Amino acid sequence: MNDSLFERAKRVIPGGVNSPVRAFRAVGGTPRFVQRAQGAHFWDADGKKYIDYIGSWGPMILGHGHPAVLEAVQKAALDGFSFGAPTEREIELAEAIIAAVPSLEMVRLVSSGTEAGMSALRLARGATGRSKIIKFEGCYHGHADALLVKAGSGLATFGNPTSAGVPPEVVAQTLVLEYNNLEQLEEAFKLHGADLACLMIEPIAGNMNFVRASVPFMKRCRELCSQHGALLVFDEVMSGFRVALGSAQSIYAKLIPGFEPDMTVLGKVIGGGMPLAAFGGKRAVMEKLAPLGPVYQAGTLSGNPVATACGLATLREISKPGFFEALGARTQRLVQGLTQAARDAGQPFCGDSQGGMFGFFLMETLPQNYATVMTTDGPKFNAFFHAMLDAGVYFAPALYEAGFVSAAHTDADIEATVQAARAHFVRV
Ligand SMILES: *Cc1c(COP(=O)(O)O)cnc(C)c1O
Repeated sequence: MNDSLFERAKRVIPGGVNSPVRAFRAVGGTPRFVQRAQGAHFWDADGKKYIDYIGSWGPMILGHGHPAVLEAVQKAALDGFSFGAPTEREIELAEAIIAAVPSLEMVRLVSSGTEAGMSALRLARGATGRSKIIKFEGCYHGHADALLVKAGSGLATFGNPTSAGVPPEVVAQTLVLEYNNLEQLEEAFKLHGADLACLMIEPIAGNMNFVRASVPFMKRCRELCSQHGALLVFDEVMSGFRVALGSAQSIYAKLIPGFEPDMTVLGKVIGGGMPLAAFGGKRAVMEKLAPLGPVYQAGTLSGNPVATACGLATLREISKPGFFEALGARTQRLVQGLTQAARDAGQPFCGDSQGGMFGFFLMETLPQNYATVMTTDGPKFNAFFHAMLDAGVYFAPALYEAGFVSAAHTDADIEATVQAARAHFVRV
Protein backbone atom coordinates (compact mmCIF):
# COMPACT_ATOMS: atom_id res chain seq x y z
CA MET A 1 0.00 0.00 0.00
CA ASN A 2 2.77 2.46 0.90
CA ASP A 3 4.35 1.82 -2.50
CA SER A 4 1.16 2.37 -4.48
CA LEU A 5 0.27 5.49 -2.49
CA PHE A 6 3.76 6.87 -3.13
CA GLU A 7 3.39 6.24 -6.87
CA ARG A 8 -0.01 7.94 -6.87
CA ALA A 9 1.29 10.86 -4.78
CA LYS A 10 4.23 11.44 -7.11
CA ARG A 11 1.85 12.07 -10.01
CA VAL A 12 0.17 15.05 -8.32
CA ILE A 13 2.56 16.28 -5.61
CA PRO A 14 6.22 17.10 -6.35
CA GLY A 15 8.28 14.18 -5.04
CA GLY A 16 5.07 12.75 -3.59
CA VAL A 17 5.41 14.81 -0.39
CA ASN A 18 4.49 18.23 0.94
CA SER A 19 7.77 18.69 2.82
CA PRO A 20 11.02 17.24 1.43
CA VAL A 21 12.44 15.22 4.35
CA ARG A 22 9.30 13.03 4.36
CA ALA A 23 10.35 11.57 1.02
CA PHE A 24 13.10 9.34 2.54
CA ARG A 25 15.59 10.67 -0.03
CA ALA A 26 18.43 10.60 2.51
CA VAL A 27 17.81 7.02 3.69
CA GLY A 28 16.27 5.49 0.57
CA GLY A 29 13.13 3.37 0.38
CA THR A 30 9.45 4.22 0.36
CA PRO A 31 7.99 6.70 2.83
CA ARG A 32 5.38 5.32 5.20
CA PHE A 33 1.94 6.84 4.67
CA VAL A 34 0.32 7.31 8.04
CA GLN A 35 -3.22 6.10 8.53
CA ARG A 36 -3.78 7.04 12.13
CA ALA A 37 -1.94 7.57 15.39
CA GLN A 38 -2.63 7.07 19.07
CA GLY A 39 -0.40 7.81 22.04
CA ALA A 40 3.23 7.03 21.15
CA HIS A 41 2.34 4.99 18.05
CA PHE A 42 1.17 5.32 14.49
CA TRP A 43 0.00 2.84 11.88
CA ASP A 44 0.99 3.00 8.23
CA ALA A 45 -1.13 2.26 5.15
CA ASP A 46 -0.34 -1.47 5.49
CA GLY A 47 -1.55 -1.47 9.08
CA LYS A 48 2.00 -1.84 10.45
CA LYS A 49 2.49 -0.25 13.88
CA TYR A 50 5.46 1.96 14.76
CA ILE A 51 6.82 3.57 17.91
CA ASP A 52 6.88 7.22 16.84
CA TYR A 53 10.04 9.18 17.66
CA ILE A 54 9.35 12.15 15.41
CA GLY A 55 5.96 13.21 16.79
CA SER A 56 5.27 15.49 13.80
CA TRP A 57 8.87 16.79 14.21
CA GLY A 58 8.27 17.88 17.76
CA PRO A 59 4.74 19.17 18.35
CA MET A 60 3.22 15.95 19.75
CA ILE A 61 4.80 16.24 23.20
CA LEU A 62 1.74 14.60 24.81
CA GLY A 63 1.58 11.86 22.21
CA HIS A 64 -1.25 11.55 19.70
CA GLY A 65 -4.90 11.94 20.66
CA HIS A 66 -4.45 13.18 24.22
CA PRO A 67 -8.01 13.29 25.67
CA ALA A 68 -7.81 16.84 27.09
CA VAL A 69 -6.45 18.21 23.81
CA LEU A 70 -9.00 16.32 21.72
CA GLU A 71 -11.82 17.69 23.84
CA ALA A 72 -10.56 21.27 23.56
CA VAL A 73 -10.21 20.98 19.77
CA GLN A 74 -13.64 19.40 19.30
CA LYS A 75 -15.29 22.08 21.40
CA ALA A 76 -13.48 24.89 19.58
CA ALA A 77 -14.38 23.46 16.17
CA LEU A 78 -18.07 23.52 17.07
CA ASP A 79 -17.79 27.23 17.86
CA GLY A 80 -16.30 28.04 14.46
CA PHE A 81 -13.14 27.43 12.45
CA SER A 82 -11.95 30.96 11.78
CA PHE A 83 -13.33 34.47 12.17
CA GLY A 84 -10.78 37.04 11.02
CA ALA A 85 -11.60 38.92 14.21
CA PRO A 86 -9.93 38.61 17.62
CA THR A 87 -10.86 35.99 20.22
CA GLU A 88 -10.27 35.66 23.95
CA ARG A 89 -8.34 32.43 23.44
CA GLU A 90 -5.56 34.31 21.60
CA ILE A 91 -5.03 36.38 24.76
CA GLU A 92 -5.04 33.26 26.91
CA LEU A 93 -2.42 31.57 24.75
CA ALA A 94 -0.25 34.71 24.64
CA GLU A 95 -0.53 34.96 28.43
CA ALA A 96 0.39 31.29 28.88
CA ILE A 97 3.47 31.63 26.64
CA ILE A 98 4.63 34.81 28.38
CA ALA A 99 4.10 33.29 31.82
CA ALA A 100 6.44 30.40 30.97
CA VAL A 101 9.18 32.38 29.19
CA PRO A 102 10.36 35.36 31.27
CA SER A 103 12.17 37.15 28.40
CA LEU A 104 8.85 37.65 26.61
CA GLU A 105 6.64 40.65 27.29
CA MET A 106 4.55 40.43 24.13
CA VAL A 107 4.03 37.85 21.39
CA ARG A 108 2.39 37.82 18.00
CA LEU A 109 0.77 34.58 16.85
CA VAL A 110 1.27 33.29 13.31
CA SER A 111 0.74 29.98 11.50
CA SER A 112 4.17 28.43 10.88
CA GLY A 113 7.71 28.54 12.19
CA THR A 114 8.89 29.87 8.84
CA GLU A 115 6.45 32.76 9.08
CA ALA A 116 7.50 33.46 12.66
CA GLY A 117 11.23 33.45 11.82
CA MET A 118 10.75 35.61 8.75
CA SER A 119 8.66 38.11 10.71
CA ALA A 120 11.12 38.20 13.61
CA LEU A 121 13.89 38.97 11.15
CA ARG A 122 11.92 41.82 9.57
CA LEU A 123 11.12 43.20 13.00
CA ALA A 124 14.77 43.02 14.10
CA ARG A 125 15.77 44.94 10.99
CA GLY A 126 12.93 47.43 11.36
CA ALA A 127 13.61 48.00 15.05
CA THR A 128 17.37 48.52 14.64
CA GLY A 129 17.35 50.23 11.25
CA ARG A 130 20.13 47.81 10.20
CA SER A 131 20.20 45.14 7.49
CA LYS A 132 22.96 42.64 8.20
CA ILE A 133 22.32 39.46 10.16
CA ILE A 134 24.31 36.53 11.53
CA LYS A 135 23.19 32.93 11.30
CA PHE A 136 25.05 29.65 11.85
CA GLU A 137 25.78 26.76 9.52
CA GLY A 138 23.46 23.84 10.32
CA CYS A 139 20.77 25.95 12.01
CA TYR A 140 17.43 25.99 10.22
CA HIS A 141 15.11 28.95 10.66
CA GLY A 142 12.43 28.09 8.12
CA HIS A 143 12.58 28.76 4.40
CA ALA A 144 12.42 32.54 4.15
CA ASP A 145 14.75 33.72 1.35
CA ALA A 146 17.23 35.59 3.55
CA LEU A 147 17.76 32.49 5.71
CA LEU A 148 18.35 29.92 2.96
CA VAL A 149 22.03 30.54 2.91
CA LYS A 150 25.34 28.77 3.45
CA ALA A 151 28.75 30.13 4.26
CA GLY A 152 30.67 31.94 1.55
CA SER A 153 34.41 31.64 1.04
CA GLY A 154 35.39 34.21 3.64
CA LEU A 155 34.00 36.25 6.49
CA ALA A 156 33.80 39.49 4.56
CA THR A 157 32.00 37.89 1.61
CA PHE A 158 28.68 36.88 3.18
CA GLY A 159 26.68 33.82 2.17
CA ASN A 160 25.53 31.92 -0.90
CA PRO A 161 21.92 30.82 -1.45
CA THR A 162 21.17 27.15 -0.65
CA SER A 163 18.10 27.15 -2.89
CA ALA A 164 17.48 28.05 -6.49
CA GLY A 165 15.14 31.01 -6.72
CA VAL A 166 16.91 32.96 -3.99
CA PRO A 167 18.70 35.92 -5.57
CA PRO A 168 22.28 36.37 -4.29
CA GLU A 169 21.45 39.97 -3.37
CA VAL A 170 18.77 38.74 -0.92
CA VAL A 171 21.32 36.73 1.08
CA ALA A 172 24.08 39.30 0.59
CA GLN A 173 23.26 40.69 4.03
CA THR A 174 23.38 37.29 5.76
CA LEU A 175 26.64 36.32 7.40
CA VAL A 176 26.99 32.57 8.04
CA LEU A 177 29.33 31.43 10.81
CA GLU A 178 30.35 28.08 12.26
CA TYR A 179 28.33 27.05 15.31
CA ASN A 180 30.31 27.18 18.59
CA ASN A 181 33.24 28.95 16.90
CA LEU A 182 34.21 31.83 19.20
CA GLU A 183 36.97 33.12 16.94
CA GLN A 184 34.66 33.59 13.95
CA LEU A 185 32.08 35.23 16.20
CA GLU A 186 34.57 37.81 17.49
CA GLU A 187 35.83 38.49 13.99
CA ALA A 188 32.32 38.94 12.56
CA PHE A 189 31.36 41.51 15.20
CA LYS A 190 34.68 43.31 14.77
CA LEU A 191 34.06 43.64 11.04
CA HIS A 192 30.29 44.18 10.94
CA GLY A 193 29.06 44.89 14.49
CA ALA A 194 27.72 48.37 13.76
CA ASP A 195 25.62 47.08 10.83
CA LEU A 196 24.13 43.99 12.49
CA ALA A 197 20.38 43.91 13.11
CA CYS A 198 20.46 40.54 14.83
CA LEU A 199 22.15 37.25 15.51
CA MET A 200 19.71 34.37 15.02
CA ILE A 201 20.51 31.01 16.61
CA GLU A 202 19.00 27.68 17.58
CA PRO A 203 20.32 27.49 21.18
CA ILE A 204 20.04 23.71 21.06
CA ALA A 205 20.32 23.00 17.37
CA GLY A 206 17.88 20.30 16.31
CA ASN A 207 18.35 20.68 12.59
CA MET A 208 21.86 19.26 12.74
CA ASN A 209 20.66 16.38 14.89
CA PHE A 210 21.32 17.62 18.44
CA VAL A 211 24.10 20.10 19.12
CA ARG A 212 24.17 22.46 22.08
CA ALA A 213 25.63 25.94 21.90
CA SER A 214 28.43 25.86 24.49
CA VAL A 215 27.96 28.09 27.52
CA PRO A 216 31.02 30.30 26.76
CA PHE A 217 29.82 30.65 23.16
CA MET A 218 26.29 31.65 24.18
CA LYS A 219 27.63 34.06 26.81
CA ARG A 220 29.79 35.73 24.19
CA CYS A 221 26.86 35.93 21.71
CA ARG A 222 24.91 37.79 24.39
CA GLU A 223 27.77 40.14 25.27
CA LEU A 224 28.64 41.00 21.68
CA CYS A 225 25.01 41.63 20.70
CA SER A 226 24.58 43.96 23.69
CA GLN A 227 27.85 45.80 23.01
CA HIS A 228 27.03 46.36 19.35
CA GLY A 229 23.28 47.03 19.61
CA ALA A 230 22.27 43.89 17.70
CA LEU A 231 19.31 41.80 18.85
CA LEU A 232 19.91 38.26 20.05
CA VAL A 233 17.13 36.20 18.46
CA PHE A 234 16.55 32.68 19.82
CA ASP A 235 14.90 30.37 17.33
CA GLU A 236 13.12 28.03 19.71
CA VAL A 237 10.60 26.69 17.20
CA MET A 238 11.88 23.21 18.04
CA SER A 239 13.39 23.60 21.52
CA GLY A 240 10.63 25.87 22.86
CA PHE A 241 8.36 24.12 25.41
CA ARG A 242 10.13 20.89 24.38
CA VAL A 243 13.42 20.88 26.31
CA ALA A 244 11.89 22.64 29.35
CA LEU A 245 8.76 24.61 30.12
CA GLY A 246 10.85 27.79 30.06
CA SER A 247 12.43 26.60 26.77
CA ALA A 248 16.19 26.37 26.07
CA GLN A 249 16.73 29.93 27.29
CA SER A 250 15.75 28.86 30.82
CA ILE A 251 18.62 26.35 30.74
CA TYR A 252 21.17 29.02 29.69
CA ALA A 253 19.71 31.43 32.26
CA LYS A 254 20.66 28.91 34.97
CA LEU A 255 24.24 28.80 33.71
CA ILE A 256 24.76 32.45 32.74
CA PRO A 257 23.55 34.95 35.37
CA GLY A 258 20.93 37.36 33.98
CA PHE A 259 20.90 35.70 30.58
CA GLU A 260 17.99 36.50 28.23
CA PRO A 261 17.58 36.67 24.45
CA ASP A 262 16.01 39.85 23.03
CA MET A 263 13.53 38.00 20.84
CA THR A 264 12.22 34.43 20.66
CA VAL A 265 10.70 32.49 17.80
CA LEU A 266 8.32 29.65 18.72
CA GLY A 267 6.29 27.00 16.90
CA LYS A 268 5.79 23.24 16.96
CA VAL A 269 4.82 22.41 20.63
CA ILE A 270 2.87 25.65 21.19
CA GLY A 271 0.41 24.50 18.50
CA GLY A 272 0.17 20.93 19.82
CA GLY A 273 0.08 19.64 16.21
CA MET A 274 -2.01 22.44 14.68
CA PRO A 275 -0.56 25.17 12.43
CA LEU A 276 0.47 27.74 15.03
CA ALA A 277 3.67 29.61 15.79
CA ALA A 278 4.71 32.88 17.44
CA PHE A 279 7.45 35.41 17.83
CA GLY A 280 7.93 37.72 20.76
CA GLY A 281 10.21 39.87 22.86
CA LYS A 282 10.31 43.06 24.87
CA ARG A 283 7.43 45.51 24.60
CA ALA A 284 9.58 48.28 23.08
CA VAL A 285 10.58 46.04 20.17
CA MET A 286 7.21 44.33 19.69
CA GLU A 287 5.38 47.66 19.58
CA LYS A 288 7.27 48.44 16.37
CA LEU A 289 4.86 45.99 14.69
CA ALA A 290 1.77 47.08 12.74
CA PRO A 291 -0.76 48.40 13.67
CA LEU A 292 1.29 50.28 16.31
CA GLY A 293 4.55 50.65 14.44
CA PRO A 294 6.11 50.75 10.97
CA VAL A 295 6.98 47.03 10.59
CA TYR A 296 4.25 45.29 8.61
CA GLN A 297 3.10 41.75 9.46
CA ALA A 298 -0.31 40.08 9.11
CA GLY A 299 -2.13 36.76 8.62
CA THR A 300 -5.66 35.64 7.66
CA LEU A 301 -5.46 32.55 9.88
CA SER A 302 -3.16 34.00 12.58
CA GLY A 303 -4.38 33.07 16.06
CA ASN A 304 -6.79 30.55 14.55
CA PRO A 305 -9.40 29.57 17.17
CA VAL A 306 -9.06 25.80 16.74
CA ALA A 307 -5.25 25.96 16.70
CA THR A 308 -5.12 28.16 19.80
CA ALA A 309 -7.45 25.74 21.62
CA CYS A 310 -5.09 22.89 20.74
CA GLY A 311 -2.00 24.84 21.80
CA LEU A 312 -3.54 26.06 25.03
CA ALA A 313 -4.72 22.59 26.08
CA THR A 314 -1.22 21.26 25.31
CA LEU A 315 0.49 23.97 27.37
CA ARG A 316 -1.86 23.30 30.29
CA GLU A 317 -0.84 19.64 30.36
CA ILE A 318 2.90 20.26 30.08
CA SER A 319 2.74 22.94 32.82
CA LYS A 320 1.69 20.36 35.41
CA PRO A 321 4.28 19.78 38.17
CA GLY A 322 6.80 17.07 37.36
CA PHE A 323 5.94 16.86 33.66
CA PHE A 324 9.40 17.74 32.32
CA GLU A 325 11.24 15.76 35.02
CA ALA A 326 9.40 12.60 33.96
CA LEU A 327 9.77 13.32 30.24
CA GLY A 328 13.46 14.12 30.61
CA ALA A 329 14.13 10.96 32.59
CA ARG A 330 12.36 8.81 30.00
CA THR A 331 14.27 10.41 27.14
CA GLN A 332 17.56 9.89 28.99
CA ARG A 333 16.72 6.22 29.48
CA LEU A 334 16.24 5.88 25.73
CA VAL A 335 19.56 7.54 24.87
CA GLN A 336 21.44 5.61 27.55
CA GLY A 337 19.85 2.34 26.44
CA LEU A 338 20.78 2.90 22.79
CA THR A 339 24.32 3.91 23.75
CA GLN A 340 24.76 0.81 25.92
CA ALA A 341 23.37 -1.45 23.19
CA ALA A 342 25.84 -0.06 20.64
CA ARG A 343 28.85 -0.06 22.97
CA ASP A 344 28.14 -3.66 24.07
CA ALA A 345 28.42 -4.60 20.42
CA GLY A 346 31.62 -2.59 20.02
CA GLN A 347 29.99 0.08 17.84
CA PRO A 348 30.84 3.79 18.17
CA PHE A 349 27.79 5.68 19.44
CA CYS A 350 27.01 8.73 21.52
CA GLY A 351 23.88 10.72 22.30
CA ASP A 352 22.50 13.65 24.20
CA SER A 353 19.07 14.83 25.29
CA GLN A 354 17.25 17.60 27.08
CA GLY A 355 13.63 17.28 28.16
CA GLY A 356 11.81 15.43 25.39
CA MET A 357 14.35 16.11 22.62
CA PHE A 358 17.30 13.87 21.80
CA GLY A 359 20.00 13.14 19.26
CA PHE A 360 22.40 10.30 18.65
CA PHE A 361 25.48 9.90 16.48
CA LEU A 362 27.28 6.84 15.19
CA MET A 363 30.57 8.28 16.45
CA GLU A 364 32.62 8.36 19.65
CA THR A 365 32.12 11.95 20.78
CA LEU A 366 29.38 14.55 20.45
CA PRO A 367 29.98 16.92 17.52
CA GLN A 368 30.06 20.69 18.13
CA ASN A 369 29.22 21.94 14.64
CA TYR A 370 27.58 21.04 11.34
CA ALA A 371 30.75 19.97 9.52
CA THR A 372 31.45 17.35 12.20
CA VAL A 373 27.84 16.13 12.24
CA MET A 374 28.11 15.56 8.51
CA THR A 375 31.14 13.28 8.94
CA THR A 376 28.68 10.62 10.20
CA ASP A 377 28.86 7.43 8.15
CA GLY A 378 25.73 7.84 5.97
CA PRO A 379 25.33 4.22 4.78
CA LYS A 380 25.79 3.00 8.35
CA PHE A 381 23.10 5.36 9.60
CA ASN A 382 20.76 4.30 6.80
CA ALA A 383 21.23 0.63 7.67
CA PHE A 384 20.39 1.43 11.29
CA PHE A 385 17.36 3.50 10.28
CA HIS A 386 15.91 0.74 8.07
CA ALA A 387 16.60 -2.02 10.60
CA MET A 388 14.71 -0.01 13.20
CA LEU A 389 11.91 0.78 10.77
CA ASP A 390 11.52 -2.94 9.99
CA ALA A 391 11.37 -3.58 13.73
CA GLY A 392 8.55 -1.03 14.06
CA VAL A 393 10.57 1.92 15.38
CA TYR A 394 10.28 5.19 13.48
CA PHE A 395 13.28 7.50 13.90
CA ALA A 396 13.83 10.62 11.80
CA PRO A 397 14.71 9.57 8.23
CA ALA A 398 17.95 11.58 8.08
CA LEU A 399 21.09 11.64 10.21
CA TYR A 400 20.95 15.41 10.72
CA GLU A 401 17.54 15.45 12.45
CA ALA A 402 16.70 15.37 16.17
CA GLY A 403 14.28 12.90 17.74
CA PHE A 404 11.41 13.35 20.18
CA VAL A 405 9.96 11.41 23.08
CA SER A 406 6.44 12.16 24.29
CA ALA A 407 4.63 11.74 27.59
CA ALA A 408 2.81 8.80 25.99
CA HIS A 409 5.98 6.72 25.50
CA THR A 410 6.08 3.97 28.13
CA ASP A 411 9.00 2.09 29.63
CA ALA A 412 7.90 -0.83 27.43
CA ASP A 413 8.24 1.36 24.30
CA ILE A 414 11.73 2.42 25.35
CA GLU A 415 12.72 -1.17 26.17
CA ALA A 416 11.39 -2.47 22.82
CA THR A 417 13.36 0.25 21.02
CA VAL A 418 16.59 -0.58 22.84
CA GLN A 419 16.11 -4.32 22.15
CA ALA A 420 15.61 -3.64 18.44
CA ALA A 421 18.77 -1.52 18.38
CA ARG A 422 20.72 -4.21 20.26
CA ALA A 423 19.61 -6.83 17.73
CA HIS A 424 20.85 -4.59 14.90
CA PHE A 425 24.17 -3.68 16.48
CA VAL A 426 25.17 -7.29 17.16
CA ARG A 427 24.34 -8.20 13.53
CA VAL A 428 26.45 -5.49 11.86
C1 LIG B 1 10.68 23.52 12.24
C2 LIG B 1 11.56 24.71 12.42
C3 LIG B 1 11.33 25.93 11.75
C4 LIG B 1 10.27 26.06 10.69
O1 LIG B 1 8.99 25.85 11.16
P1 LIG B 1 7.83 25.44 10.11
O2 LIG B 1 6.60 25.40 10.95
O3 LIG B 1 8.23 24.12 9.54
O4 LIG B 1 7.80 26.50 9.07
C5 LIG B 1 12.10 27.01 12.07
N1 LIG B 1 13.09 26.93 12.98
C6 LIG B 1 13.36 25.78 13.63
C7 LIG B 1 14.43 25.76 14.66
C8 LIG B 1 12.62 24.63 13.36
O5 LIG B 1 12.93 23.49 13.97
